[in-house]
This record gives sequence, C-alpha cells and structure tokens, in this order.
Amino acid sequence: MSSRYSLWSLARQALRRHRDWAPAWRTPVPKPAYDIIIIGGGGHGLATAYFLAKKHGIRNVAVLERGWIGGGNSGRNTQVVRSNYFYKASVDFFEHSLKLYESLSRELNFNIMLSQRGIVTLAHSRHDLETNRRWANAILLNGVDSEILTAEGVKRIEPLINLNARFPVYGGFVQHRGGLARHDAVNWGFARAADALGVDILQNCPVSGFETRAGRIAGVATPHGVLRAGRFVINVAGHSSVLAEHAGLRLPLISMALQAMVTEPVKPMLRSIVLSPTAHVYASQSDRGEIVIGGAADVYSSYAQRGSLAVIEDFVAAAVELFPAFARLKLMRHWAGIVDISPDTSPIMGKTPVDNLYLNCGWGTGGFKAIPAGGDTMAFTVANDRPHPLIAPFALDRFERGALIDEGAAAGVAH
Ligand SMILES: Cc1cc2nc3c(=O)[nH]c(=O)nc-3n(C[C@H](O)[C@H](O)[C@H](O)COP(=O)(O)OP(=O)(O)OC[C@H]3O[C@@H](n4cnc5c(N)ncnc54)[C@H](O)[C@@H]3O)c2cc1C
Repeated sequence: MSSRYSLWSLARQALRRHRDWAPAWRTPVPKPAYDIIIIGGGGHGLATAYFLAKKHGIRNVAVLERGWIGGGNSGRNTQVVRSNYFYKASVDFFEHSLKLYESLSRELNFNIMLSQRGIVTLAHSRHDLETNRRWANAILLNGVDSEILTAEGVKRIEPLINLNARFPVYGGFVQHRGGLARHDAVNWGFARAADALGVDILQNCPVSGFETRAGRIAGVATPHGVLRAGRFVINVAGHSSVLAEHAGLRLPLISMALQAMVTEPVKPMLRSIVLSPTAHVYASQSDRGEIVIGGAADVYSSYAQRGSLAVIEDFVAAAVELFPAFARLKLMRHWAGIVDISPDTSPIMGKTPVDNLYLNCGWGTGGFKAIPAGGDTMAFTVANDRPHPLIAPFALDRFERGALIDEGAAAGVAH
C-alpha cells in the first residue's frame, strides 16, 4: 500500500534519504476473473477504474495495459484543459471535467500541477471575429466563463505577439479558467489512487481478442491466458477500431497521427495558451520554460506527398509568424500519438450493441481535458448499465440517428 503524500511524509523520507517510499502501485498477479475489465491504461481507463471503486464500491476491477501506464496519448499530449466548447452537451460535459480538475490534486492526493493561466483563441479576420463572438456568447449562455478580446486585449495578455502577421490578429476570446495540467501526474495520480482502492493494474498485458458466449463477451485473450469478467470496457484511443472489430463492432473512426514539439527552455515569454484555428497552431510555455507547440492532426492530403516532417515545418512557420521571438529557439524534441477521430469530432461513450461491452473512444485531439469526467461518467454507466445523463448525447448510435454534435471548430481539428 502506498503511503499518503504530504509535507510531513516528504520531510520524513528526506531524513531517510528517500529510501523508504512505497511503490505508487502494485504489480499484481492477475486473477482468473474480475467483475469488470478495462482494456487500456490511459487516463480514461484509469479514471474509470478509480471512480468504479471510489463511487460505486466495485473494486474487483482490472485495467489491462499493453505497454506502460500513460504510454499512449494520455502521456503524449500538450496538457491543455478547457471547457470552451460550442454546443450545450459538450459544454456541460467538459465543464464537469474542468471542475473535477480544479479539485483533483486533493481528490487523488497527487499534485497534478494545474495552472489556470487562460486560453486565448485568436480571430484573424472580421469574419473570424464574428464567429468568435458567437462562440464566446454560446459559452457564456451555457454558464461558463468567456471574455471577448480586442486586438489590444490580446496584446495585453501576450505582449510578444505580432498582431500584423500573415494572418493579422483582429482580436479573439479567452477562457480564463482554461490552462494546463501535468499529464504524467494525472495518469499516475489516478493509477495510484485506483490501486490503493484494490484495482489491479496489469502492465505489459495486451489484449489480442475476445472470447464470446451467447452474444456476450466472456473473456479477453492476454499473455496471461483468458481473463474473464462480467463487463468489459474498450478504452484504447487510436487502437479502438482494431480492437472493437475483434468484438464484431465496426466503429465510425479514422485514426491518424497528431504531432507536438518543444523548444529549448527559456525565461518566461508566454503567459497563456495561444490558439490560432486559422494558422492551425497553438503554443504555451511549460513550467520548465520550454515552448510547447501543437496543431492539427496529420489530416491534409498534401502531407501524404510532403511527409510528416512537413507538419512540423507548418507548425513552426505559423508559430514564428505569431511570435517572431520564437525564431531563435532550437527545437529539442518532437513526438506523435495516434488519435481516433469520429465524423463529428465528438467522443463516443457508453453502451454498445454487445450486451456487456462498453466503449470510450473518439477523443481525437482533445481527450486529456476530459479524463476526470470521462472516468466519472463511464464508471456510472458501467456500474448501472445505463448512460450517465452527461454522456447520453455521445452514444454510438447517434450516427444512425443523425444526432451529431459537430464540434469541428471547437475541437481544433480541421475536417
Ligand atoms: C500530440 C498530442 C497532443 C494532444 N494534446 C491534447 C491537449 O492539449 N488537450 C487535450 O485535451 N487532449 C490532447 N490530446 C488528446 C489526448 O491526449 C487523448 O484524447 C487522451 O489522452 C485519450 O485518453 P485515453 O485514455 O482514451 O487514451 P490513451 O491515453 O491513448 O490510452 C489508451 C491505452 O490503451 C492501450 N492499448 C491499446 N491497445 C491495447 C490493447 N490491445 N490491449 C491493452 N491495451 C491497449 C495503449 O497502450 C494506451 O496506453 C493530444 C494528443 C496528442 C497525441
């Protein structure tokens, strides 16, 4: 059992030269059967396991992760959390998540380093400005903070921005409660807290298929043999289509790379997170001082000819136009994750046509901010076998009913 983190325990361990810290989670021997098996040890899978144990008292749960905890997109993202979406269903869900983030460090006894420094969305034309006003007002009408900015207002927040770039800055809007949370801490915090409640986290445990019986899932094939459970959750992001097909489901998803990069660390030069949907770039400064740069997924057909390094070139060109001072920085690292994008760029969560199989996927470029609410609402759905009201609109069958929630613009994904 891991010990409680506090100033007192830190001081005590310092006196013992940090030799006595308990592992943050166990490496358990798999049981042959569980009440619930969650496939995928990303943030959503771990958070679902935590809330199943914490809120619903279901502790005989296993999270099966093919690699290591948070080795997927939950440990590769650019850490942006916000709830400034357009439609009510999205705002309600993402605002629930942001509120959970605001008290998550205390909830998990793990410092997730939440920094609500504000996210500024730029408008680059009068038309953009009109759209931004509509977007910001929709957010306000849904009860979430949002402030429309003039160009001078943007400059007050970000003095180094070039307002006369190729796409001149006309203004924008800001969600002051938007910000960043340390992604590893979110994964590790949920893993540690779930483990402390009795959840088995099995790393290096890929699921390669399903055993079905009478139209239900009976077990999953793993290197430890078939592990059985009463209910199963697929939570594997960019690998959802592949895995779901083994269970007889065809998902309306495309999977593609999403890239990001960081520069060498420098003194503070960016205050907020700045996002330009027109230039397809966003940037923030990490606590270490690196400039973190991201953009749209590798979606354009031109990348097929120009190769994925062209994506980096495009991100960097756009970032340097907005912030010429970046031009002298060296890029240190760059990486990608495989994201799963649905036709309306909103997530797919809830029950499936297979009786005891549940699904959490389709997060595309924006599921990190959704981890606490995704875990909370999926745990409710699996425990009660009915969708939590906040995720009912995100059911898989919305694509048959035509009840789409098109958040293409707010998701930051070009489509
Ligand atoms: C570069 C980049 C930047 C991003 N930036 C942001 C951002 O700023 N804000 C934001 O909100 N979102 C962002 N995202 C998206 C966000 O990271 C994801 O939507 C979110 O992490 C998805 O969480 P998850 O738990 O569903 O998936 P993941 O974290 O990917 O977890 C799924 C896990 O399933 C495992 N798995 C796969 N197949 C199997 C199998 N067969 N058996 C067992 N395990 C399996 C994988 O190894 C993985 O660990 C970004 C993504 C990327 C790639």
